[in-house]
Amino acid sequence: MTTIPRSNLFYQSRLSRPMLDRAEGIYLYDTSGKRYLDGSSGAMVSNIGHSNANVLAAMKAQMDKATFGYRLHFQNEPAETLARMTAERMPEGLDRVFFVSGGSEAVESTIKLARQYALAIDEGSRWKVISRYPSYHGGTLGAVALTGYDPLTRPFSPMMREMPKVPAPLCYLDRDNLSDHDRGLKYAEMLRDEIIAQGPETVLAFIMEPVGGASTGALVAPDSYYGRIREICDEFGILLIYDEVMTGAGRTGAFVASEHWGVVPDIVALSKGFAAGYAPLGAMVAQGAIVEKVLDAGGFMHGFTYAGNPLACAAGCAVLEEMDRLGLVDNASVMGDRLKAELGALMARYPFIGDVRGKGLLLAFELVSDRETMTPLPKALNAYNRLVDLAYERGLIIYSRRTRGGLEGDHFLVCPPLIITEDQIGEIIVTLIDCLDTMAA
Ligand code: PMP
Repeated sequence: MTTIPRSNLFYQSRLSRPMLDRAEGIYLYDTSGKRYLDGSSGAMVSNIGHSNANVLAAMKAQMDKATFGYRLHFQNEPAETLARMTAERMPEGLDRVFFVSGGSEAVESTIKLARQYALAIDEGSRWKVISRYPSYHGGTLGAVALTGYDPLTRPFSPMMREMPKVPAPLCYLDRDNLSDHDRGLKYAEMLRDEIIAQGPETVLAFIMEPVGGASTGALVAPDSYYGRIREICDEFGILLIYDEVMTGAGRTGAFVASEHWGVVPDIVALSKGFAAGYAPLGAMVAQGAIVEKVLDAGGFMHGFTYAGNPLACAAGCAVLEEMDRLGLVDNASVMGDRLKAELGALMARYPFIGDVRGKGLLLAFELVSDRETMTPLPKALNAYNRLVDLAYERGLIIYSRRTRGGLEGDHFLVCPPLIITEDQIGEIIVTLIDCLDTMAA
């Protein structure tokens, strides 16, 4: 006898969650009317909050004109405008924009552009893309090959050529006597060693999340790391790709996180907050010289049907306008400092909070059984699910992961929409205290 599924829909697990009814500002409501504070902006997506009236009006206006025009048949104004607005907000030189529908597509595009650039400048021997362990770069096979997280890569390893990895700078776990500065350099030198081990003439690019996302829980490297990585890439003629799918569009208190360290990558992947949940949209932004070489050499052999569609791009334009109008990049910085300080204060109250980290409103805390040694909580405690469930019951959504450099570790991302206010931060903290008290009892 076959069993009839409860639902025809499936995702990665049997997880059952409330049915979404509507959303407004930083709150979501289920069909029973229960309200949830969106403490993780979904998966760090809803940067300008939900149901923004100006974005909806701009989308409606575009819908009334045209929702789709194939890019090889028509140019469209929203795509042109969004490309210009994006380039204006990026660091100097990153001025050519290629639209896609999401983060994985953006990452795939960066690799394919890099590869075609190498071919165009007669460096066809370069094909390896070094990434970090742990890391997350997306769900398509090319992006999975770059991802440093075994449970997501192992099932597919026969189907792809897994790329070389260097350790992500999980400096907060190091117990050596190095200064922050030297520790940053230590991790950067691991890239140099790996390039030499691989054979520099075979290495195409290095890809990194400037502030770690789901994989490392808002990991920020010491300042020295960022500049040294750029130098190492330059030394060997290797392209530096920043995966800013999660960090971009203001999340860390700058339009792109690379600005914090004055590093200009060669190619950048954007998505998530870029259209902030109003449309499936992502972008690859590249240095003009790279794009010109590829176009001169015969064209970029890559594209997606929905790329640059007028509706998604109209949403993207309106999102960027709202970010400016509401001063959200600055708010991410100011409210991020505030939220980080409040989370930091919880460490005095709960000895099992081992670390609070992040930048802007990309923040995380990690639970441990011993703060001195950063020993993780026993897996059997299931803390990463338990805390999330307690928060759900209390109407707060946070994002959890149990991974840390291939080791165990329960970390929780607290990344509300960039429109968050001080009072709403208070609401998050009060709810978290209630959850953590219950966990501790
Ligand atoms: N890169 C990073 C850094 C991400 O965080 C994600 C999504 N979590 C992706 C790429 C993939 O994006 P998407 O799920 O939109 O394909």
